[in-house]
Amino acid sequence: MKKLVDLRRDTNTLPTEEMKEAAFRSPLGDAVYGEDPRQRELEELAAFILGKERAIFLPSGTMGNLVALLTHTQRGNEIILEENAHIFTSETGGLAQVADLMVKTLRSEDGAPEPRDIERAIRPENIHYPRTALIGLENTHYRYGGIVVPLTRFEKIREVADRYNLPVHLDGARLFNAAIYLGVEAKEIVRYCDSVMISLSKGLGAPVGSLLAGSCDFIKEAERYRKMLGGGMRQTGWLCACGIIALSEDNISRLREDHDNAQFLAEGLQSLPGIKIDRHQVQTNFVLADLSERELEATVFLERVREKGVLATRAGDFAVRFVTSREVNREDIVFALQVIKEVTQVI
Ligand SMILES: *Cc1c(COP(=O)(O)O)cnc(C)c1O
Repeated sequence: MKKLVDLRRDTNTLPTEEMKEAAFRSPLGDAVYGEDPRQRELEELAAFILGKERAIFLPSGTMGNLVALLTHTQRGNEIILEENAHIFTSETGGLAQVADLMVKTLRSEDGAPEPRDIERAIRPENIHYPRTALIGLENTHYRYGGIVVPLTRFEKIREVADRYNLPVHLDGARLFNAAIYLGVEAKEIVRYCDSVMISLSKGLGAPVGSLLAGSCDFIKEAERYRKMLGGGMRQTGWLCACGIIALSEDNISRLREDHDNAQFLAEGLQSLPGIKIDRHQVQTNFVLADLSERELEATVFLERVREKGVLATRAGDFAVRFVTSREVNREDIVFALQVIKEVTQVI
């Protein structure tokens, strides 16, 4: 069989053998009535790891974020997001269509707005203005190539939020990648936020699922919205058994391999003519390659490497994105680099 190295995403990760076995052995119950033992166990484990009172399991990160928005806000409120936030760009406008929210987007260098910009964006009490109801953050930041927002920024944003009595929600789809990069436990990031969503189905490798964590009062309301949106699933034990393994210490620290492979890939790409890498961007499991120097079109580049068995994604007219995950090892990266080298020599 022809070799295929898929560097498009970390969502294509498949459950491990250990996950599959745990799934089949898992006891089952009706989770809507709180009777699925594995779901309860997973939710307790997640709350513990994230340092929050409670957590709930949901089918996707998009639903987790939407439930958080619905729980934190009233219709017609305004929320503050960075302009490339996944919640704003990539969740089908659910914040407007379902949660009836307005958005104030802010520019940033690296995925998290400056605290003073956030402060300026908060609406004063005035009969003409919508009410600001929430600050949304993202870590790692997807659109900027999986870069990590530093803890000091979180701390300062929290100070602003406290001054104006505003909640902070964290889209932590790749929170553990950020924690590993920063060398801290995930809860050290989450402590600056009132609620957090994490994905089990990206680098952590579970087939399906996300968790939303927060205070008991917050989760009590969030459970209602989860049900309303259709996220009240029944015998979830199979999925949650995989999720419990996804959140094991070994599985979380394995993400480091993805980061190391991304570094290795970046280093290799950097040495190829016509490819520019910003090494500051390569912090976790994403590598953005700039092909503009030789005006190498991303679509052409991607087509050529695909023919030779390497898959990546377009990130702009002259930019491509590579994502490392447990589905690719060092050998695969060496293969990918060889293919890219051949392709860039002939284009
Ligand atoms: C993937 C992702 C989500 C949404 O998760 P789904 O499970 O795909 O709905 C939210 N935020 C970020 C930053 C993501 O990368």
